[in-house]
Amino acid sequence: MAYFDNNATTPLFPGVVEAMSEALAGAWANPSSPYRDAARVRALMNQAREEMAESFGVNPGDLTFTSSATEANNSVFTSLANEGFDQHRVLLSPVEHPCVSEPVRRYFSDRFSVLSTDVNGCICLDSLESELKSSSNPILVGVMAASNETGVIQPWKQVAQLCAEYQADFHCDATQWIGKMDPTDLSLCSSFTASAHKFGGPKGVGVLVSSKEHSFLLGGGQEKGKRAGTENYPAIEGMRVAWRVCQSKNLTISERESWRDSFEERILGLDSGFKLLGKNAPRLWNTSTFLVPCFDNQNWISKLDKIGFQVSTGSACASMGTSTAPMVELYHLSAGESSRLIRVSSFWGHSAEDWIALGEAFEKAFGLLKDDSSSSSVISI
Ligand code: PLP
Repeated sequence: MAYFDNNATTPLFPGVVEAMSEALAGAWANPSSPYRDAARVRALMNQAREEMAESFGVNPGDLTFTSSATEANNSVFTSLANEGFDQHRVLLSPVEHPCVSEPVRRYFSDRFSVLSTDVNGCICLDSLESELKSSSNPILVGVMAASNETGVIQPWKQVAQLCAEYQADFHCDATQWIGKMDPTDLSLCSSFTASAHKFGGPKGVGVLVSSKEHSFLLGGGQEKGKRAGTENYPAIEGMRVAWRVCQSKNLTISERESWRDSFEERILGLDSGFKLLGKNAPRLWNTSTFLVPCFDNQNWISKLDKIGFQVSTGSACASMGTSTAPMVELYHLSAGESSRLIRVSSFWGHSAEDWIALGEAFEKAFGLLKDDSSSSSVISI
């Protein structure tokens, strides 16, 4: 089975299971306990923290382990609201993941604005600058690094620079960026988040990098009081190993973009009704999201599944019906159109041949769906 749904989650990189098994068997003590076994786990965990912090160019004390990017993103906005900063305003891109936009809507209902963008949801820097210039309130800007839905990349480095110029805080949800793209300049952001299962690590572990305190979970002094709850060292170790693998990969991006581009050209050539979301915007090398001309996306997905290819309708949370996918609003898609969205997302293990095979599978699925529909209309006659 060829797996092309890596924006939902990635398979574990080689070495992750072994590292986690070893940690589960031999380093299971509570890192906060007072004896030597626990001190060893604490030391291993802090080595992982130092290694990851160094690669991001940040202070290890600013890197907090969390249970997910969802928790990390919630914690930035919820803690600001809880701490009684009632003068703060939040400026958000319209394409944020719900774990950013929902806490903001709940806690800053009358104190947040959606930033202007171009047609693909990329922030308009001039209008951000005029918002920053004209506000007399302290501001927290939330702009993701890259979209989980379309792969469209935000000008987050420029956003970070503008925010620094106007002394605004800038939170960047880098969950889809980290593990696929160069993380170096993320240290320009006031805070950013990542999730291990998006880069070859296990589920249930992520990071929040911030020099500020965002205590969102209360009831324990772990993580220097920044995040209550016993740390999951085996998962942290798995994340560390996955992160090492990712860091050796960044050099082949342009080649990978060309594999994806050839695949997209092939799909767009199948029928003039295929549309590629974010076509002319800078995008992650791994993601293509199509509006297909006909047949419900569930039919496409099950046909492709039978042929041996796993793809998705869009973001996993939107597929579960928890909220409307931001891209549906951004591209003004009707209900009919939103049920014709298909996202493919690759990862480092895919080769040029895999992308070619995916293109062939789409072509075959399209033919089979057309055959099914013409035979069903014959039967209904
Ligand atoms: N932010 C983005 C951009 C995501 O794509 C996701 C997951 O799909 C999350 C946050 C949430 O990550 P997690 O699964 O670690 O909660």
